[in-house]
Amino acid sequence: MNQDFDVNSAARNWRVDTTPSASPLEVVNDLFASDVLTLDQLKARLSKSAYKSLQGTVERGAQLDAGIADTVALAMKTWAMEKGATHYTHWFQPLTGSTAEKHDSFLNPAGDGVAIMSFSGKELIQAEPDASSFPSGGLRATFEARGYTAWDPSSPAFIVRHANGATLCIPSVFASWTGEALDLKTPLLRSIEALNSAVTPALELFGASAGTRVGSSLGAEQEYFLIAEEYYYRRPDLVMTGRTLFGAKPPRGQELEDHYFGAIPDRVLSFMTDAEMQLYALGIPVKTRHNEVAPGQFEIAPIFEHSNIAADHQQLIMQVLRTTARKYGLVCLMHEKPFAGVNGSGKHCNWSMATNAGENLLEPGDTPHENMQFLFFCTAVLKAVDTHQDLLRACVASASNDHRLGANEAPPAIISIFLGSELTDIFDRIVSGQGGSGKSAGLMGLGSSVLPEIPVHAGDRNRTSPFAFTGNKFEFRAVGSSQSISFPITVLNAIVADSVSELTADLKARLDAGLSLDDAVTEVVKSTYQKYQRIVFNGDGYSDAWHQEAEKERGLLNLRTTLDAIEHLNSEKNVGLFGKLGILNERELAARQEIMYDIYFKTVNIEGETTEYMAQTQILPAALNYLADLGKAGGSRAAQGVTTEVSAAADELFDALQALRVQNEALGGDEVHEKAHHMRDHVLPAMNDVRAAADKLEKVVSSKLWPLPTYRQMLFVK
Ligand code: ADP
Ligand code: MG
Repeated sequence: MNQDFDVNSAARNWRVDTTPSASPLEVVNDLFASDVLTLDQLKARLSKSAYKSLQGTVERGAQLDAGIADTVALAMKTWAMEKGATHYTHWFQPLTGSTAEKHDSFLNPAGDGVAIMSFSGKELIQAEPDASSFPSGGLRATFEARGYTAWDPSSPAFIVRHANGATLCIPSVFASWTGEALDLKTPLLRSIEALNSAVTPALELFGASAGTRVGSSLGAEQEYFLIAEEYYYRRPDLVMTGRTLFGAKPPRGQELEDHYFGAIPDRVLSFMTDAEMQLYALGIPVKTRHNEVAPGQFEIAPIFEHSNIAADHQQLIMQVLRTTARKYGLVCLMHEKPFAGVNGSGKHCNWSMATNAGENLLEPGDTPHENMQFLFFCTAVLKAVDTHQDLLRACVASASNDHRLGANEAPPAIISIFLGSELTDIFDRIVSGQGGSGKSAGLMGLGSSVLPEIPVHAGDRNRTSPFAFTGNKFEFRAVGSSQSISFPITVLNAIVADSVSELTADLKARLDAGLSLDDAVTEVVKSTYQKYQRIVFNGDGYSDAWHQEAEKERGLLNLRTTLDAIEHLNSEKNVGLFGKLGILNERELAARQEIMYDIYFKTVNIEGETTEYMAQTQILPAALNYLADLGKAGGSRAAQGVTTEVSAAADELFDALQALRVQNEALGGDEVHEKAHHMRDHVLPAMNDVRAAADKLEKVVSSKLWPLPTYRQMLFVK
């Protein structure tokens, strides 16, 4: 196999003419949200009263009036057909972590060879997709497998296009007939409601006007890799598992730091532009694009939105990146660790709380009053993260994310908060009772002799923290690049809702006892901070010293692997939390845990079998062929030397392969927890041994005989 020829065609295999062009004005005037059924669009198509009723549903979460369903459906169908849609689908997020759709045509035969396009209110509101093959974690038995999808009017419908047409997608929730949530969206919506219920009473104490509603805002930065498509198809591991199970470290990795923020390669930039145009049409406010740290790694980030919409949009971003890459002869890899030895990919979730008037509750303000409020909510987040370290770790746990978290890479598996030196200093001064002196012009007063000033631009940077305050929001960095952000946001909303409720009760008690708002807030902040201070860590999260300190001195959890983390998911504390807030009942929570075990087991099982298959049928034969060639090369010193090296590594591979085969067959038990533990404790180590031997061979076997594209090719051919 001539590797040089492959490099050549892999690098050139893309069609320049696929780049769409839209001028900046066209983007703003025509393209942005052109494939989204916005409220404005509906307003133009509905009667005044029908629109008002629908608006109430969308903006205040009221029930949809069944009487207007047919009218709304008709308006949706007309709009969608104008956009070229022939089909519609309820678009939902089952517990697989991806999205699901089952298309139905608008077409209906009307007799005598005539057909009409129809779409009823009933079809809009609810569908029953016979979705019996989705994981339910025991929430349904197959004989009663019916699940139904129901329109979520708080997220707008949109059009997804393909080469030969388009489909109307109706964002939906997915539940069993008994009303239990079978998806990731329902709990997210419930958590937004819980956050609103918890935060508005607090805001009232701070004097918020009646009718104020609160939600969470979310901006997710997506990291991904791009490699040439033809390499992808020659790597069974990438096709089967999304990551390379073999591959020696190339002579050059990311150490030159020349890729990060470097000039974006032309082909990649064309791909990015194409994807962005499609995302604009979907109303997704994509803002940032750049090269990431590892060679072949990139990032895309939208501007933050309401977390419900952001969760839908995040799924669409992944989908559009994946499909668009193909047009450019590229494959987009979303896996958390597609290549060993270089950076993995995360999905930093920037999270905050905001009112319906657009006030960011985690923004240090311009007035003393705003700053008191800011400190109150910031303290609530500290308390929430400390109390629920286990949940934050569990909601990002997966077999693929284990290669990042706790694997000496960004960020660690220990959950802590980076506050930055200024904000930490403020809390320290509140605790020690030192007030502000107003010595710096850049500081905002808190209007109280006991409260210090807050810097206008709080938030220095620390890339090693899993949870960092970055000026006016928290950035949850442990989220994996391939996962749905719905559950992590649900957890954030839930834990902060609970914490805010408790601190509000505390604040209220102190106010009732006659304290001024200033003094009451100071006391709450002070006592809470003292209690939860151990969660704050501004140092190097990768260092061994931190791991020691976190566990031994601070007693923070270090849940190294997925299985360590998900064990905690349905603890009494967590069942209580989700139950109290009406987000997940005990069965719903247990189901999610069960599915996580199952997905973990299946993921590693597939990896183990793929490793065995590739080692046996591709790598070992390459080594043996080379040994045969060397035998023909006669008795030169070089031939003998290489033969010794290759044959030692081949023997090592053979032995490791036998050991892996035993583990792959064993499974470890009948029950999913046993199987999952078997995968972690026996299959993964056996896979690593096979890989170590194979990677040695890669470095000594003739590259002409090597059956797999190498890291050198995959990461550097652009
Ligand atoms: P950085 O990571 O350098 O802080 P940005 O300030 O551009 O970069 O923010 C990164 C992400 O955080 C973007 O998606 C941005 O929209 C989002 N973000 C900014 N403010 C908020 C907020 N109040 N709530 C949620 N996300 C936010
Ligand atoms: Mg960031």
